[in-house]
Amino acid sequence: MNDVIIVGAGFAGSVIACELAKIGKKVLVIEKREQIGGNMYEYRDTNGIPIHKYGPHIFHTNNEEVFKYLQNFAEFFKYEHRVLGKIDGELVPIPFNFTSLEKLFSKEKAITIKNKLLSKYDKDTKISILDLINDEDEVIKEFGQYVYEKVFIHYTAKQWEIPVEKVDSSVINRVPVMLGYDDRYFQDTYQYMPKNGFTEIFKNMLKSENITVELKQDAVNRIKIDIDSNKIFLDNKEFQGTLVYTGAIDEILGYKFGELPYRSINLVFEQYQSNEYQPVAVVNYPNEEKFTRITEFKHFYPMDKELREKNKTTILKEYPIMYNRKDPKNLTPYYVITNNDNIKRYEQYKNSVKDIKNLFFCGRLAEYKYYNMDTVIERALQVVKKIENNWEEK
Ligand SMILES: Cc1cc2nc3c(=O)[nH]c(=O)nc-3n(C[C@H](O)[C@H](O)[C@H](O)COP(=O)(O)OP(=O)(O)OC[C@H]3O[C@@H](n4cnc5c(N)ncnc54)[C@H](O)[C@@H]3O)c2cc1C
Repeated sequence: MNDVIIVGAGFAGSVIACELAKIGKKVLVIEKREQIGGNMYEYRDTNGIPIHKYGPHIFHTNNEEVFKYLQNFAEFFKYEHRVLGKIDGELVPIPFNFTSLEKLFSKEKAITIKNKLLSKYDKDTKISILDLINDEDEVIKEFGQYVYEKVFIHYTAKQWEIPVEKVDSSVINRVPVMLGYDDRYFQDTYQYMPKNGFTEIFKNMLKSENITVELKQDAVNRIKIDIDSNKIFLDNKEFQGTLVYTGAIDEILGYKFGELPYRSINLVFEQYQSNEYQPVAVVNYPNEEKFTRITEFKHFYPMDKELREKNKTTILKEYPIMYNRKDPKNLTPYYVITNNDNIKRYEQYKNSVKDIKNLFFCGRLAEYKYYNMDTVIERALQVVKKIENNWEEK
């Protein structure tokens, strides 16, 4: 008899399964894919290259506790992610920095812009393009508009398929320019990658004898949440243990209040008989091309000489697309679309199950929220505490 059923073996489900198994609970994990790991699943392809099946994932955080926690499950190496963007035919650092500026402007113009910027803002800080665009100095304003046009507008239109005037200013505000030569994509204190790939983390999280994992099992076919009686059913029998759901909340509740929309990505992998396709792991294509970025996976393992020198490589092109659950290609829901209507709809789902005391939702699909790896781990650990408190209250 299982004390807990967890739907989904991504970070949300696996962290919770691991922690509850540790305190002796019998946990059943139901996962609809063929493998564990959720969107972090990593494998070696026929080229022998480690691939992130659901798009490139880089671990970065300022949360020391989360990084310490993860080290219980794998060995990590320091990896500082660097991204280039193809702008006017040149590959330049993204976020846009002084190197980008010097590559795309004449020497004199670049000096003028740099001097203007540094007379107003601190060196080696990140500043929002919104601040640059709104600056009263014409040179700074014009530079802000240039970056906005070349880095942001068309990329955003591709990514979200919406006109730029509909993009929330908070999104624009998050697009930074680095006032210096730091070309790291993230400035977080902890930037690491797992030495043997992400999948190993999940294998170790789920290896307790208290955990049973059933793959290729769609919870929708086995679990019913009855909001009239506030009861949960597993295989048509009432389940009185704890259910943790990390799949999509609208799906398990039968789309009762309508669908929660997602952006998806058509992921196109290409294999090449060559040593290297591009100089860094990720190159962004903000403008002309239909794809948004290309990832070359071997760059995620710079210390692996054999992999680096291998005369084979695999790349991934990402074509953003709207998620359609009825599409026979069965695309994955990736990014939530946060607007007032969708948030309201999500709240309706959440409120409809609030009286079911043995039901917990956690993770990006269940909470209709974008989480990075570190924040979803933090959230999962909070949910573990909530579940334990709930048991104590009984
Ligand atoms: C393209 C992309 C790139 C990203 N890059 C980064 C990055 O570089 N760094 C970073 O920190 N974060 C990144 N993220 C975020 C990261 O992917 C999330 O933090 C993480 O996926 C959240 O984990 P989760 O467990 O909530 O969801 P998931 O990993 O999606 O796990 C949910 C699991 O539930 C299963 N499931 C769903 N429905 C059912 C059902 N009905 N029955 C059974 N099983 C079901 C799914 O198959 C899946 O395995 C990225 C996200 C995307 C979309």
